Amino acid sequence: MSGDLLVTGIGHLVTNAAGRGDPAVIADAAVAVAGGAVAWVGPAAALPARHRGLPVLDAGGRAVIPGFVDAHTHAVFTGDRSGEFARRLRGETYEEILAAGGGIHATVAAVRAAPFDDLVAESAARLRRMLGQGTTTVEVKSGYGLDTATEAAMLRAAAAAGEAAGVDVLPTFLGAHVVDRGADREEYVRLVIDEMLPACAPSARFCDVFCDRGAFTVDEARRILEAGAAHGLRPRIHAEQLAHTGAALLAADLSAASADHLDHATPEDAAALAAAGTAAVLLPAVALSMRHPQPPARMLWDAGVTVALATDCNPGTGYVESMPFVVALACLEAGLTPEEALWAATRGGALSLGLSDRGWLVPGAVADLVVLDAPSYLHLPYRPGTGLVHTVVTRGEVAVGA
Ligand SMILES: [Zn+2]
Repeated sequence: MSGDLLVTGIGHLVTNAAGRGDPAVIADAAVAVAGGAVAWVGPAAALPARHRGLPVLDAGGRAVIPGFVDAHTHAVFTGDRSGEFARRLRGETYEEILAAGGGIHATVAAVRAAPFDDLVAESAARLRRMLGQGTTTVEVKSGYGLDTATEAAMLRAAAAAGEAAGVDVLPTFLGAHVVDRGADREEYVRLVIDEMLPACAPSARFCDVFCDRGAFTVDEARRILEAGAAHGLRPRIHAEQLAHTGAALLAADLSAASADHLDHATPEDAAALAAAGTAAVLLPAVALSMRHPQPPARMLWDAGVTVALATDCNPGTGYVESMPFVVALACLEAGLTPEEALWAATRGGALSLGLSDRGWLVPGAVADLVVLDAPSYLHLPYRPGTGLVHTVVTRGEVAVGA
């Protein structure tokens, strides 16, 4: 039957079965999969006879981890902004580039002009590369349309690209990414609430707002996110990236699924997020690409917040598709241990998306897993930039590799 598999020869299996930051490793392990879900996990010597007839994937002594859950991306877009990247390297700021009509506005123009099938094809190719780096579930935001028709098309493109790439996509409506060029800001907020949300909510799971200096205010974000919630969309918030504005406290107050970026978060923000059960989605590759200080990952973790790691893959402020690279950065630059970073990149991401059935390898979980070309998950931060993904399995089927 499809989705039936026995993964054997696992030298070192990360299950994440024991709680936040504990990889709960099993040595010399096996994983039995039936109908795309994990049926049994344990030491290979204890494998029950009923699972012995399954098709075998021999990991050859390598390490196996749960598939990465990338909980914050803008992976549906067309074109690139490498010229703008070069300008930033020469000293222009992102805000200067945005004010001159570059930044998000440049990608909005490209996405509006792109035929739908081209947008899907380009995005699917990107998701396939992410899958090749071990990412099996991806959150994808709209936000390069800024008009009702293009925002709705972006969400349809995200679903179609996920289908084509064989990656699970969770769509987020981000009509409030930036005020459209030339628009009156109050009229734009009303367009998002009165027209975009009703049109886009059926194709989305979450509603997000870029609440920051130069973007939307806390009051505007609250109005948009409350309207989104009335359409059944749970809030996520781009919070405290460029300046401290109070967006993290808004996220906690709204019991948002996540507050993302948090580069300027305070201990008070962390306590509120922990108390509200709002996850902190940290994006160290963006801080790297923007040459900003890293988010206070250690402080947030120690405050008891559910920490997730994500790429924020986007054409402007961080065109990064690789979760192994993000794990390495989180350890080397943002102060997490390898165990914490790996958990945040798998189980933490899943929890930030409200998904209890993935990010870990326990009976009943979706059988998404990665065979590393290494004997231990420690090699992810230890050997940054090295392709360490050997095989990727989605729902019990080999999707990449052997
Ligand atoms: Zn983002």
